[in-house]
Amino acid sequence: HRPKRGCPFLPRCRFALERCATEAPPLEEKAQGQWAACWAELGGPPTTATPAPAAAAEAQDGEPLLSVRGLRVHFPVRRWPWRPPMVVRAVDGIDLELAPGRTLGVVGESGCGKTTAGRAVLRLIRPTAGAVVFQGQDLVPLPEEQVRSLRPRMQMVFQDPYGSLDPRMRVRDAVAEPLVVHGVARGAEARRRVEELLEMVGLPADAGDRYPHQLSGGQRQRVSIARALALRPALIVADEPTSALDVSVRAQILNLMRRLQDQLGLAYLFISHDLSVIRHMSNWVAVMYLGRVVELAGRDTLYRDPQHPYTRALLSAVPVPDPVVERSRRRSPIRGDVPDPARPPAGCRFHTRCPLAFDRCRTEEPPLRRLQDGHWAACFLASGAADGDAA
Ligand code: SF4
Repeated sequence: HRPKRGCPFLPRCRFALERCATEAPPLEEKAQGQWAACWAELGGPPTTATPAPAAAAEAQDGEPLLSVRGLRVHFPVRRWPWRPPMVVRAVDGIDLELAPGRTLGVVGESGCGKTTAGRAVLRLIRPTAGAVVFQGQDLVPLPEEQVRSLRPRMQMVFQDPYGSLDPRMRVRDAVAEPLVVHGVARGAEARRRVEELLEMVGLPADAGDRYPHQLSGGQRQRVSIARALALRPALIVADEPTSALDVSVRAQILNLMRRLQDQLGLAYLFISHDLSVIRHMSNWVAVMYLGRVVELAGRDTLYRDPQHPYTRALLSAVPVPDPVVERSRRRSPIRGDVPDPARPPAGCRFHTRCPLAFDRCRTEEPPLRRLQDGHWAACFLASGAADGDAA
């Protein structure tokens, strides 16, 4: 079967991007003397299944719910019509693991790849390479219909509940929609389930009759959570779910999410730029910078003993509630902007902004190394380095 539009190799390609379905790629020179008709620039072969760092401690009591190996998401972008497309390496080879009923926080500045990683985990965008094993099944090579059949078990809660709800749909119908679409319940049974869900997320029964614009921001996010819970998922990817909300409402929604986790055994991949929120929610924390995980640790370890200069800088920017302590704190602000992910710096990707950078950092990329049980960092200076490593 040859598609009428798009790339003729699409049906058999593991690395297909959305664009491949609609536009046939022209034959272009990718490197000197090397021509290929492909929108994606493959970042080398998919990495093999090296043990994901968080596996060790988290998955002791059985199979992990989610295991991400060597995940890459690369987008071709054409900045100048007369030049070949450049490749943005939004996610560039990350390994993560999440046990059932737990929360892995993913934190970093905007542009670090955390949102893209979250969407790729749910196959809302197609990974360029790597594996996303959910309940024992790798989602990356699956055809779209099979991914759709797994969708009830993995859901997403977005930052902007207003944008993710249909303004013409009453709350009752919006919450019932996934039940009807997936053929799980209809009629009186669906109505009963909707009432149960509204109660579960702390909304009054009459909220079902209202439209999204008649609700507050916090109530709308409760509706989004009810929708996400409708099909009894095991995993929720929550992408900045409280950053559009007022501070007072934020805590209520976070506490609601924690209560629901305890009650329903949900696992969260919780994405945020806010380290205080991540601390409140997570068991494990992965810090991302320019498409890579640069530090990964249990929550308490990471906040007590951050080892990567980037993590330290992020933490030093978090205000402390005590004004005396706050005034006396030493800050290590991060210099400059996040570099262009289409041209990440050679060597350590953080070297252009790192106050501790030395010669080796400019030429050699530090791997994510295990420093001690449950703590990994990608920096030559992180303590636990083998003798001579930091020279
Ligand atoms: Fe800084 Fe070098 Fe460590 Fe990178 S490897 S974080 S540049 S000290």
